[in-house]
Amino acid sequence: MKKLLSREMLKYVFTITITMLAIGLILSAVVSDKIVLIAVLSIAYVIFMLMLLYFYDRHVKPISNATKVVDQLVKGNYQARVETSTSGKLGELNKKLNLLGRNLSELSIQERMQAEQLSTVIDNNESGLLLIDEKGYIHLANRKLVQMFGKTAKDYVGFLYYDVLSYEKMHKIVQEVFLYEKNIKGSFKLKDGTTSMYLEVVGAPIFNDKGFLKGAVLVIYDITELKKLEVMRKDFVANVSHELKTPITSIRGFAETLLEGSMHNEDELESFLRIIYEESKRLQVLTEDLLTLAKLEEDSFELDTSMIDVSELVDNFLPIISQKAQLKDITLQLDIEEHITFEADFSKVKQILINLLENAINYTAEGGTVSLSIHSDDDKVYFKVSDNGIGMKEKEIERIFERFYRVDQDRSRNTGGTGLGLAIVKHIVETHEGTIHVQSDIGKGTTFIVELQRSMEE
Ligand code: ADP
Repeated sequence: MKKLLSREMLKYVFTITITMLAIGLILSAVVSDKIVLIAVLSIAYVIFMLMLLYFYDRHVKPISNATKVVDQLVKGNYQARVETSTSGKLGELNKKLNLLGRNLSELSIQERMQAEQLSTVIDNNESGLLLIDEKGYIHLANRKLVQMFGKTAKDYVGFLYYDVLSYEKMHKIVQEVFLYEKNIKGSFKLKDGTTSMYLEVVGAPIFNDKGFLKGAVLVIYDITELKKLEVMRKDFVANVSHELKTPITSIRGFAETLLEGSMHNEDELESFLRIIYEESKRLQVLTEDLLTLAKLEEDSFELDTSMIDVSELVDNFLPIISQKAQLKDITLQLDIEEHITFEADFSKVKQILINLLENAINYTAEGGTVSLSIHSDDDKVYFKVSDNGIGMKEKEIERIFERFYRVDQDRSRNTGGTGLGLAIVKHIVETHEGTIHVQSDIGKGTTFIVELQRSMEE
């Protein structure tokens, strides 16, 4: 553009100079008066200067402005614009330059938005992400990864992965991804002081257009909760097997002894058969409790709700409880407000009260007292089951709702308990969106308070 400018300019300057010289020569021949000659030449000079200025304004200045705008666009300033008042080809060029600027600006806005969206997605991802190039340098570490491994993103980006991440298992995964050029999976435990986290890492190779390995991306999942569930499931299976094993071994042992000859001894026959009967009853209760829990946990489980009359509810289970209380010479005290109705699943609420009252009787010495009180206000019904039995320590209370947890294993088994009663109670209370609280003192007794909404609809 500069060349074009100087050529054009030279042409103009040359023409004007020649014209001036020609005028000067003609005038010097024609005009003998020097003063007139100087005046004419001065006027010609002024005209020449004005023409130069006009030329600069019309041709040189717009081009130099356009050049400046092009420079700005090249530098990435897409807001730069040139004046479009110039007419002709130059004006057209300027309009196109402005259009180019506008398009570039739109493109850069779109690009920035996409980059922002991508970084938001990457940063808010629930998994840790790490991008490593083929030399092992980290190019990206998202927020979750930083949360998992500590420090800040700056401590990872630009560094070699094995210098900033000190987990052998991760190094091995990256090395295998580079070596086999395929997805590699692995898991490891990350220990941070007292807490530990289980992580699963999936490494995947990244290839360029020509199919050459360019790096690897690591996706890191926090599987701590899953691990916990797995441990719980394993514990549960182990507990169930253990609970089943005891009565089955006993039934089998006594049956064998009877078959080996004891059946001919009438005393032994009766006592062994009684044991077999009791043990099989335990098996039945255990399987029933397990089935109840399984049903409560089914996704499709739904409460069979109806309007319950409290007196009707109490009349329904009282005979069973009174009989059990009588057998241990336990006084059963009832304090039940009249005419309470509430919306709930009748059989499930009955199960809550039977489990709590049976426990109260089981864990109270002969001659003790167990009381049931039921009261209500506008919103809730309050069930209170108290006893003056053996009680529990504070740290035991936290665990009694766990499956198979028993404060005193042998004592609980002797009472016929499965260790599932309170787990079932808690489940039922929660499905009714209610709450359960325990107060207990060793040697003084225990109180369970269950609160249920009077109406299930919010
Ligand atoms: P279990 O079938 O063993 O009674 P539960 O789940 O009903 O199982 O209760 C868990 C444990 O909580 C019991 O083993 C017992 O140690 C303790 N517990 C429950 N209710 C009482 C209570 N009223 N008094 C003292 N301890 C209780």
